[in-house]
Amino acid sequence: MAEAAPHPRIVVLPGDGIGPEIVAAARELLDALGDFDYIERPIGGASIDELGTPLADDVLEECRSVDAVLLGAVGGPKWDSTDPAAARPEQGLLGLRKGLGLYANLRPVKPLPALIDSSPLRRERIEGTDLLVVRELTGGVYFGRKERKDGIAMDECVYSTGEIDRIARIAFESARGRSGRLTSVDKANVLETSRLWREVVTGVAADFEDVELDHLLVDNAAMQLVSDPVRFDVIVTENMFGDILSDEAAMLTGSLGMLPSASLGEGGPGVFEPVHGSAPDIAGTGAANPLATFLSVALMLRHGLEMEAEAERVEAAVEAALGVGLRTADLHTGAAGETRVGTAEMTEAVLDAL
Ligand code: NAD
Repeated sequence: MAEAAPHPRIVVLPGDGIGPEIVAAARELLDALGDFDYIERPIGGASIDELGTPLADDVLEECRSVDAVLLGAVGGPKWDSTDPAAARPEQGLLGLRKGLGLYANLRPVKPLPALIDSSPLRRERIEGTDLLVVRELTGGVYFGRKERKDGIAMDECVYSTGEIDRIARIAFESARGRSGRLTSVDKANVLETSRLWREVVTGVAADFEDVELDHLLVDNAAMQLVSDPVRFDVIVTENMFGDILSDEAAMLTGSLGMLPSASLGEGGPGVFEPVHGSAPDIAGTGAANPLATFLSVALMLRHGLEMEAEAERVEAAVEAALGVGLRTADLHTGAAGETRVGTAEMTEAVLDAL
């Protein structure tokens, strides 16, 4: 008799703040879809408290050995400190990305029809927005040498041709699979790393003649994201610009609580997580919006586990729950037909819609 195929193995890293609440909801969702083996481990502040470090070596090792990693969020006032020597929750996240070689962060931004009026922008501005931010994740100023001496602080920003080339290729490939337009964002009028960025991206374009490439300075890109978001298809940019622009783009969807992300590298498991942070202001109140995490589960099913049909079921169920007017506090506008719900009710509605 043939042996049953093993269940997909997932390391689950709930983290801090609302992390454990939204990740517990995501496990309910996964359980409703099929059989998965979970290994739950601490990261961030929870890991500092339990293990004395934001990411333990054996936790990273376990992440390397599974099919995918699902993460909540890290950080909170408890671990905030201006002491440069103190362990910080965010080091867990950076260590995980670096340790798994996850150099590409994909953040799709497509306002759902039911939420168009939750956006701070007018309906006519955002209707039709469907963009993808491809952010370089393991280089640049976040990973450069840091120094503090005699009242002077320094963060070094470094990019190599190879780092830019590989992220550019992912962006061009993504654009090819969408509507064929790529915008590369940099600050080439000021930064040397940006001049190299522009040069390399322009070079890679020769291999993708079917993709239309343009370059924008980051300040202009920030402006156009709110004035004319429909103009964008795929945006590719370096680590810090991508961090900022993707949060800005998230607001087009009405709430940070709606935006999923996938971080991918070469071959190994990807990390799937909501874009928002640990929301310490609402942690423990049962008010967290679990939908960005559910949509991250959909990305995990699609990009990490080759379960496209299940990914689409999750996305459809999220739309269905919003379609009947259910809104967590962050999405609630008070409009007629809306019902304000917490994490548990929203989760139940999505499970019912599955
Ligand atoms: P945040 O994203 O945690 O919260 C910003 C605002 O959005 C808050 O008012 C919060 O209540 C709200 N919000 C965020 N997610 C929500 C959700 N799912 N449902 C409802 N409301 C939601 O950003 P912050 O306040 O700047 O940072 C808080 C902590 O999170 C900090 O320690 C920060 O370092 C950390 N952080 C972690 C990550 C990550 O783990 N990927 C990302 C960003 C910030």
